[in-house]
Amino acid sequence: MNMLASGVSTYADELIPLVPDFQKWCDTVVCAPFALLAEALWVFRDSEVGVGAQNMSEHESGAYTGEVSGAQLADLGAEYVIIGHSERRELYGETDASVNKKVLAAIGASLRPIICVGESLKQREIGVTYDVVSMQVKAALYGVEADSLMRTVIAYEPIWAIGTGMTATPEDAQDVCCEIRSVICALYGEQASSAVPILYGGSMNDKNAFELLARPDIDGGLIGGASLKPAAFAAIINAANQ
Ligand code: PEP
Repeated sequence: MNMLASGVSTYADELIPLVPDFQKWCDTVVCAPFALLAEALWVFRDSEVGVGAQNMSEHESGAYTGEVSGAQLADLGAEYVIIGHSERRELYGETDASVNKKVLAAIGASLRPIICVGESLKQREIGVTYDVVSMQVKAALYGVEADSLMRTVIAYEPIWAIGTGMTATPEDAQDVCCEIRSVICALYGEQASSAVPILYGGSMNDKNAFELLARPDIDGGLIGGASLKPAAFAAIINAANQ
């Protein structure tokens, strides 16, 4: 919930020249709050930067005051939508079941869901990280057909690393991303599992991005704080393209 409409074009003017015209290994997407989506879609219209939303309703349409549907996002021109961010799970009661409904609704609306999963510090300390994350991935993908799986993106975001400056070590992040890939492999087969992008998120910045992104199962990043600074965000994009 950062920025006002007046700041969006300044942000885009700074970011766009720093994003390479030809991105070899990476797609760049800015996921904006609903109120800034139209402005973001406009300023990034002829650029290499795609636009997505940060949430959507699990319902198709109807009497859900204050909610925004996948069809409405797609109609505006959004391509992606973040689903099940830990802040939404923690603050707004989103559950694995509601995340699953939103994932199916996003796919139904031809959006690409970026599905967030990740353990709390307590869960990591008691050694249930893999169980928690595997369960979240399986629940989120329940009912997703194999041919729609390719439209999904999984973001592993350990809750304790989000906005805290405490990044997971590249080894720990790799291990969990690898576990996520094996869960997808067991559900959909090896080819599908290698095609689904798995991102790491949690205090990724221009200093630590290269080392994280060099790991075989970390295909990209979900960037919070550092994405608000165009130069830092562009440095991460450049690291991903290497
Ligand atoms: C996030 O908000 O999902 C996130 C990863 O934030 P940060 O990069 O600031 O930790």
